[in-house]
Amino acid sequence: MTDLPSEWTHEPRKILQFRPGSKVGDIDPNSSPGYRGAKNGSESVQAERNTRFAGLQEMLYANGKAGDKRSLLLVLQGMDTAGKGGIVKHVVGAGDPMGIRYTSFGVPTEEERAHHYLWRVRKALPTGGHIGVFDRSHYEDVLVVRVHDLVPRDVWEPRYDEINAFEKELVDSGTTIVKCAMFVSLDEQRRRLAERLDRPDKYWKYNPGDVTERLLWPAYQQAYQAVLDRTSTDYAPWFVIPSDKKWYSRLAINELLIEALKSMGLSWPPAGFDVEAEKKRLAQA
Ligand code: ADP
Repeated sequence: MTDLPSEWTHEPRKILQFRPGSKVGDIDPNSSPGYRGAKNGSESVQAERNTRFAGLQEMLYANGKAGDKRSLLLVLQGMDTAGKGGIVKHVVGAGDPMGIRYTSFGVPTEEERAHHYLWRVRKALPTGGHIGVFDRSHYEDVLVVRVHDLVPRDVWEPRYDEINAFEKELVDSGTTIVKCAMFVSLDEQRRRLAERLDRPDKYWKYNPGDVTERLLWPAYQQAYQAVLDRTSTDYAPWFVIPSDKKWYSRLAINELLIEALKSMGLSWPPAGFDVEAEKKRLAQA
């Protein structure tokens, strides 16, 4: 049974899952696959789905408190301005911060560089009952690193298989992984960067380096293609999220999270005490 809002004509987890052989160049970032609703009206759908997500997240957390080791990991990848921060704020942010572990991965520190690239990632993994959110991730080690030749090819090339093995290990130990690649068009990216330059309250989000990366879009496209081709597995598939319409990408990722939580078959953990006896004790206390 699905409680998917009627605006969805297709299940997001099916329509957005990367299909082997499909090409990054064919993605239309301005599309809204599987959704027949418009921006107008999306706010009320979003509000209801935020509540649904929050309920499931609380249940996951409650189970964690009761000793359940399972967790969920949301991996967000995308070029600058793709809207990763908006997902964190407007989708995951509907949950209870107590059960959420957020990590953003920037340029590695000196200490991080002295270790294997998965070292900092392992340290940030969610523990039982938690949702981990990676704002960028280990995939940067085959994206920015590959595009900028930060290490030689024979170093980054084996990483795809290594990442698959790493994620398999996580899934086998009870972590459900939801990987979202957010695609924004170059036009929309220009508009969003321009807005940052126009508004003093957005200067803090602007990084002159973002313009440099923009110029490298063809190389990034190639690198994203390799990520999707080589690391979309049956145990941790990639979802391709058209992200020119922020309201759509938020609705879509919200549904992917709800679906992932539902697939865990959670229920409220039973009381670890005699409820009736406790009611009597309380009445007399
Ligand atoms: P954001 O740009 O997402 O707001 P930051 O300002 O922290 O966040 O910058 C993130 C930058 O760090 C990005 O340009 C990204 O490519 C870079 N980065 C992340 N991981 C790595 C890595 N492993 N090696 C080199 N650069 C990285």
